[in-house]
Amino acid sequence: MSDRVRVHEYIALDRAAEPPALLCADCGWRLCDWAENYRLHAVVVDTATSALGGLFRGLEESLDEQIVLRAYHCPSCGRRLDAEVCPESAEPMWDLKLAGPGVAGPTAAGLS
Ligand SMILES: [Zn+2]
Repeated sequence: MSDRVRVHEYIALDRAAEPPALLCADCGWRLCDWAENYRLHAVVVDTATSALGGLFRGLEESLDEQIVLRAYHCPSCGRRLDAEVCPESAEPMWDLKLAGPGVAGPTAAGLS
């Protein structure tokens, strides 16, 4: 069994690292320790939803805060790891939280 397994479409877990680490699945860049929120270690690009076209038109008119499409990119290769639509002031949400450093797969990844 490999020490590097995918835990998300664009995130891999390196179980041999000490401590085990989350990596960009494309280039292997170490994002963070396994128990951290990898989004806090990604390059963040916010785009105002008003610039995204008709699907998002009017969101900023019904809310008091700018709504953005927030994309998280690998700091090394630039691969977009994930994205969410959120208020501009929102902290990055967890979208991947492992049950433990030696476990990977569908039963280990969950939302919080
Ligand atoms: Zn990368």
